[in-house]
Amino acid sequence: MGRAFVYVIVGGGVAAGYAVHEFVKKGVSPGELCIISEEAVAPYERPALSKGYLLPEAPARIPDFHCCVGSNEERLTPKWYKEHGIELVLGTQVKSVDVKRKTLLTATGETVTYKILIVATGARALKLEEFGVKDSGATNVCYLRDLNDANKLVNVIQSCSGKNAVVIGGGYIGMECAAALVINKIEVNMVFPEAHCMGRLFNPKIAHYYEEFYKSKGVKFTKGTVLTSFDFDDDGKVTAVNLRDGTKLPTDMVVVGIGIRPNTSLFESQLILEKGGIKVNGRMQSSNSSVYAIGDVAAFPVKIVGETRRLEHVDSARKSARHAVNAILDPDKTADFDYLPFFYSRVFTLSWQFYGENTGEVVHFGDFTGHRFGAYWVNMGYLIGSFLEGGTKEEYEAISNATRLRPPIEDLAELERQGLGFAMALSDRPSPSQSLDAGQSGLIIEKPLYAWHTTTGVVLAASLAAFAYWYGKRRRLW
Ligand SMILES: Cc1cc2nc3c(=O)[nH]c(=O)nc-3n(C[C@H](O)[C@H](O)[C@H](O)COP(=O)(O)OP(=O)(O)OC[C@H]3O[C@@H](n4cnc5c(N)ncnc54)[C@H](O)[C@@H]3O)c2cc1C
Repeated sequence: MGRAFVYVIVGGGVAAGYAVHEFVKKGVSPGELCIISEEAVAPYERPALSKGYLLPEAPARIPDFHCCVGSNEERLTPKWYKEHGIELVLGTQVKSVDVKRKTLLTATGETVTYKILIVATGARALKLEEFGVKDSGATNVCYLRDLNDANKLVNVIQSCSGKNAVVIGGGYIGMECAAALVINKIEVNMVFPEAHCMGRLFNPKIAHYYEEFYKSKGVKFTKGTVLTSFDFDDDGKVTAVNLRDGTKLPTDMVVVGIGIRPNTSLFESQLILEKGGIKVNGRMQSSNSSVYAIGDVAAFPVKIVGETRRLEHVDSARKSARHAVNAILDPDKTADFDYLPFFYSRVFTLSWQFYGENTGEVVHFGDFTGHRFGAYWVNMGYLIGSFLEGGTKEEYEAISNATRLRPPIEDLAELERQGLGFAMALSDRPSPSQSLDAGQSGLIIEKPLYAWHTTTGVVLAASLAAFAYWYGKRRRLW
């Protein structure tokens, strides 16, 4: 048995959802597009799983957070796919792909042929077994990548209220799950090998703020060591975690967030891989011109840093998906993807956004004892990254715009003194014809403003405004 489609998307996560939405917006004919996903539900906003999904009261549930509510756009329910003539094949793993023959084989034995394939297989959570720790499949050991994981986590949380949890890993998943556990009245001890949380993104000063905040909520930190083994009871439940430094931490449950690995195995000897993902060009097109890759699995040229990067964030998944569809349907009008890396998180009453790149010298600003502070990163004399906690919509827009503008910075002390005002002043510039004047700001060498204010600035402002509006409306989901 075989079926043929013009466009096939493998994977049914965030990037797939946004790609389908873009296809429909641009006009795809019924029967042309098929999406094949291992998951049993239509594409949804995955970040909700570590936020609204884990709330003890009025938690978010499917169908509330199907794509594309994260961008304040329509919600793509299974009915929507049907109405638009999109073939939505759920609960079906793609077992193999032959990119030369343009065919793929599903776990149900069906052969599907395509003209264009879009790979949106995302990533999987790394397992403790891969680090030599056995029996992490115990009933009270939880990971968090998909809805099945989230359902298990919710069940374990419900059986552990008033008890203890150990969270392994101090990254995104660890930090967000730790906050959710606290909200569910579970005592948390976070264990990670680094000197501070969010090691890839935060510097010590920023991390210190968040760790102190978490401590004020009762979270304990066990840093500089790793899990080596578990103790179990007779039912096979974990009762304690044993650490390399000899510490034993009794626990009622464990949450593991130790990183992800892109799902590239279908393509390993067929496409060029880089940075652990499928290498694509600025059109999200792989080394085989009929195969595109989007989202977490794609390693694409990030113009602003001049390097190929693989990003593991929802904004990049959404935008790379839309970009690929435009490059496919409207190649002449689609320039190379020009993406400004953007990460965010929202836990407890905290909310931060980060734009760009965190290398070079760091300049902190604001009140690190209060609720609003931030940092700029300056590399080779240019501002290349910005971070802000507790900002308003306008302030986040300003740091985003300032980072995209990449202004030259001569005087770090002056940048520190101006703090957020520096980004706000850049954003407030009324016309693209105005120049940035070192004489005026004390910071910047005379240089014409780019067209960002009229084009990118407007687009950025619009998308950030939509995002912020959605945030406000749907905050509980994230
Ligand atoms: C709990 C959680 C919270 C997050 N929070 C944030 C956040 O606050 N901010 C942020 O920026 N980012 C966040 N992220 C990251 C963000 O969700 C991802 O970057 C985004 O989901 C990537 O989209 P994707 O479509 O590439 O991959 P995914 O959304 O992971 O989708 C991949 C899909 O492909 C399917 N698949 C894989 N292999 C096959 C196969 N062989 N056959 C069929 N289907 C297959 C998978 O089952 C899945 O449905 C979070 C991630 C998680 C897990």
